[in-house]
Amino acid sequence: MGKRAYNFNAGPAALPLEVLERAQAEFVEFQGTGMSIMEMSHRGAVYESVHNEAQERLLKLLGNPTGYKTLFLQGGASTQFAMLPMNLLTPGKKAGYVMTGSWASKAVKEAKLIGETYIAASTESEKFTRMPSQEEINVQDDTAYLHVTSNETIEGTQFADYPDTGSVPLIADLSSDIFCRPLDIEKFGMIYAGAQKNLGPSGVTVVVAREELLTAEVKNIPTVFRYSTHLSNNSLYNTPPSFSIYMVNQTLRWIEEQGGLEGIEEKNRAKANLLYEAIDGSGGFYSGVAQADSRSLMNVTFRLGSEELEKAFAKESEQQGFVGLKGHRSVGGLRASIYNAVPRESIEALVDFMNDFMKRNG
Ligand SMILES: *Cc1c(COP(=O)(O)O)cnc(C)c1O
Repeated sequence: MGKRAYNFNAGPAALPLEVLERAQAEFVEFQGTGMSIMEMSHRGAVYESVHNEAQERLLKLLGNPTGYKTLFLQGGASTQFAMLPMNLLTPGKKAGYVMTGSWASKAVKEAKLIGETYIAASTESEKFTRMPSQEEINVQDDTAYLHVTSNETIEGTQFADYPDTGSVPLIADLSSDIFCRPLDIEKFGMIYAGAQKNLGPSGVTVVVAREELLTAEVKNIPTVFRYSTHLSNNSLYNTPPSFSIYMVNQTLRWIEEQGGLEGIEEKNRAKANLLYEAIDGSGGFYSGVAQADSRSLMNVTFRLGSEELEKAFAKESEQQGFVGLKGHRSVGGLRASIYNAVPRESIEALVDFMNDFMKRNG
């Protein structure tokens, strides 16, 4: 095999090499069945045990909380932006949204099509360079749920702590930081995440929620968009993305092997520190985009003194084997996405490159 790229892609993103190799080993022939996992019925015992194992691992990593269920859905996190209000934003209720950047805006845009919404807090006046504090978040009466975006993948910000919402269900989009650190699921009514950043390949979206939020019988929306349909059918109402779910199961197993969420967090903090220290120690040559208390462990965003320098950085880094460092087209600058599966060696190599680039251009 050739050398693995230094992969800093924002999503789909790096997968653990061990996971890819294990998948390769049983790609054609799955556990003596004479076929690939992709070729078998989703109604059969072999696939179903993989499906159930993935759900069990998910809940185990969350401490097996009582009353929580997990679903495997399709259509990405973007579909959850719509499905969530379709199911839970009932007439007479409002949904509160915390406006923290690009993904939060997309979430609220969909909810507005369904029902009444309000902005419970916003950091737009600071160009979304930080997450709001608990004190800044105003939850109104008759709120069906409060929605937060745990990690703004594009801006590079992340909640250090989640707000307390009392009896109002807190619902979080964790697409880009699920399982990057321990998660107190009891704080949440529901979390959801597209798999392609921290959980596996694209194609499946994970939902974990308190059961009572998944059982609402909403008669005026199509069957396939009701959480209750998927709950009562163990996420096998229609054909699930079976290979993606198999890969999620493998990725969860890998997380367990890293020492679970505590082990992963320790590694992630060390990885992120390497980069933030390189930025902060550059005497202003590099500057971090996110404010210090909202810096993301997963997406490190930074700028250089001019757009020309940023272009040169992106180009030269590519020539040296670094992939995906250009910032999102909507905000510019540079971004290193350092999800769970990005090895420390990739980050060390990037820090060396940054120091070298600074020497030559500073
Ligand atoms: C990537 C991302 C999404 C979009 O996910 P899709 O699966 O492409 O719909 C939504 N929210 C956040 C926070 C993301 O990082």
